[in-house]
Amino acid sequence: MINIRQLSKEELQTLTEKYGEKKFRANQLYEWLWKKNASSFDQMSNIPLSFRKKIEEIAYIDSIEQIHQQKSKDKTFKCTFKTTDEHQLVESVLIPTSIRMTACISSQVGCSLSCKFCATGKLGFKRNLSVGEIVDQLVYIKNLAESEYQQGLTNIVYMGMGEPLLNYKNVLQSIEILTSKEGLEISP
Ligand code: SF4
Repeated sequence: MINIRQLSKEELQTLTEKYGEKKFRANQLYEWLWKKNASSFDQMSNIPLSFRKKIEEIAYIDSIEQIHQQKSKDKTFKCTFKTTDEHQLVESVLIPTSIRMTACISSQVGCSLSCKFCATGKLGFKRNLSVGEIVDQLVYIKNLAESEYQQGLTNIVYMGMGEPLLNYKNVLQSIEILTSKEGLEISP
């Protein structure tokens, strides 16, 4: 089975063409996966049912689940998410200040670099996060900023768990989704 959120826009186009569908179906798929954050193919109401059924046979949508959050005195939120496969835990943080609203997100489960001051380094490296798992954190933190502080995000840093340059491909792809028009449309 293909993790459909690992496919680039071009790869989605190749997939739709393979099934005899027009190119614009790939844009619709992309929009459902990223702008509308669909967690199942059933939600994709403007895509023909017959095509959705075909995709469902070969692909799935991955996601992470928020399971815990804490708010500190300085109004920072720390959120814990569980992955669906081996129930690994990763964390993201919302940091509000008078001039910025920053999301700090994770790129790996654990980390291989063992920096002496860092608790994540002590866990060792478990695996890279997928594109979908990275973007899901951001969507959650963005919604939290809007509901708690009535503000959008101004900054995003990949300084949570893991070294982002060691998960380069997925990190780059997540940035493309966060900044694209059919994605979250966050300023590059
Ligand atoms: S998460 Fe960052 S600070 Fe921690 S061990 Fe990895 S690279 Fe070092």
